[in-house]
Amino acid sequence: MHPAASFERRQQLVRNTLARRRVAALLVLHLPNVRYLCGFTGSAAALVVHAQGSAFFTDGRYIQQARQEVTASELFTEGPPLPAALAWIAKHQSGTLGFEGTHITVADFSLVRHSLGRRTQYKDASGLVEEFRMVKDDGELGRLRAAVDLGGRLFEHIAPKIRPGIAEAKLAAELEYQARLWGAEGMSFESIVAGGIRSALPHGRASQQPLPRRGFVVLDFGVILSGYCSDMTRTVHLGRPDARARRLYGAVLKAQLAAIDAVRPGQAVGRVDAAARKVLAAAGLGRYFTHSTGHGVGLEIHEPPRIAKAQRLKLQPGMVITIEPGVYIPGEGGIRIEDMVLVTDRGCEVLTPTAKELTVV
Ligand code: ZN
Ligand code: ZN
Repeated sequence: MHPAASFERRQQLVRNTLARRRVAALLVLHLPNVRYLCGFTGSAAALVVHAQGSAFFTDGRYIQQARQEVTASELFTEGPPLPAALAWIAKHQSGTLGFEGTHITVADFSLVRHSLGRRTQYKDASGLVEEFRMVKDDGELGRLRAAVDLGGRLFEHIAPKIRPGIAEAKLAAELEYQARLWGAEGMSFESIVAGGIRSALPHGRASQQPLPRRGFVVLDFGVILSGYCSDMTRTVHLGRPDARARRLYGAVLKAQLAAIDAVRPGQAVGRVDAAARKVLAAAGLGRYFTHSTGHGVGLEIHEPPRIAKAQRLKLQPGMVITIEPGVYIPGEGGIRIEDMVLVTDRGCEVLTPTAKELTVV
């Protein structure tokens, strides 16, 4: 599909929902949502989706870029984006204005109310665009696959360099340098490299600490490619693992496989979370699994759905989520294994290509 056609299709889906909810226009300020709906990749923008079309606002720095990228919306480049959008709304729109409550600042919302006055009605439309973003189209899946593959190649590149004495930050630096050389626009988040007892920190940012002679090392990282994020975690063991280390690793792997096994269309995400939790509880490790099982990934590293306890949202084909159970034992160490998984018509496909059996270095 031609890019402009896919943006028109996405905007039309939003428009249908607005009509159903009796909202005349939606003010979109969250940049990943702006990008999803009109293709703009810059850092200053506002988009108004309304019954007849859409209007895009940016400032002078982005005139050329906006002309190239934004082909399915009316263009305004006199900026700054929000005041320009509000002036346009005041002139051309009436009726209820939808806004993104989870993304607008108090200051910006006062500006909205000040500019449009009390006659305008406002409706919080938080999550409206994100709901469409959960199900990826073919173009998005292609980009996500490319990002995941690059992540896998980076792990192959870095794995031989993991050894006692090397600083966590040096491994992260090597990983991130290579990511850029291989085409990544950036990392999806600050790379996690956590060795020894630091592996018990679920989000142990790579530090200057050298890796110990024995113990687990958790590596959790991702790249951004064509705007789409990857996310993977592998845990390796320095030195010969004892029986307990093998047992812990085996339990996390079993939990991860059980959760993947539960991924299929129609399944409530809470049940996927429960599948992982059940395995770890049976191994007596339930209380060491201190976070949720996974999250959606796409233009943002964390986006809906949340694969967490008691969540009732049902999986649909085209959703891409992570499955990442872990155990973290204070003063001892931690293990997490994370793959990206695509929900298919019949079950799921694990996108992450990297092996998961316990690697000893
Ligand atoms: Zn991760
Ligand atoms: Zn993740």
